[in-house]
Amino acid sequence: MTTGLNTIHDAGQVCQGCGLCCSGLLFAKVNVYESDAAARRRVKLSADGPDTYAMPQPCQFLDGASCSIYADRPRNCRSYSCRTRDSIVEGTLGMDQARQNIQAAKDLLQQMEVPVQKYWDISIAKTGFRPFCDDFLHLIRFKLDQGETPTKEEHAILRRVSDVIKIVDPHFRKTGRRAMIDRAIAAIEVANNSID
Ligand code: SF4
Ligand code: SF4
Repeated sequence: MTTGLNTIHDAGQVCQGCGLCCSGLLFAKVNVYESDAAARRRVKLSADGPDTYAMPQPCQFLDGASCSIYADRPRNCRSYSCRTRDSIVEGTLGMDQARQNIQAAKDLLQQMEVPVQKYWDISIAKTGFRPFCDDFLHLIRFKLDQGETPTKEEHAILRRVSDVIKIVDPHFRKTGRRAMIDRAIAAIEVANNSID
């Protein structure tokens, strides 16, 4: 029999082997507030507003797949729960399937490294998928607006971006956070039409 406590424990176990929400896959930054005193003592953060500091992602505190300041992590980190975690807690997703989805996302991100490093000399693991994706799609949209056709290399990377988004959207994003996805899919469809 599944109990709420069991599933919360299971979700915690899965998160400990994941860390995708701290890797720059979903967010370019995490806001840290005045009330996050313990977290703010741990590092000098860049000011992002009068009462807010921003912690760029991938997070400097991500150690492998775990948070190295877990007890002191900011409230935004404490409150975040992706669809995978929510589904485990609800008892509608098993740990094995969750781990398979996490590994599939990590594999797709890893597969982007070589083409992206070759073309731009940057690492997705270091810059984070989300910041990379925002810049890349901005570039593609700019080219399309100028009447330019994306190169074959850009087109190949667009397909990989699309593959990552297809797994991120249903499994790791929160409901209602579709803006980046919609922009990405629109840019990918336009670029595909310009090449195919
Ligand atoms: S992405 Fe989801 S499953 Fe992975 S660590 Fe974050 S909340 Fe947990
Ligand atoms: S402080 Fe910890 S939980 Fe928050 S983003 Fe960084 S690694 Fe993740």
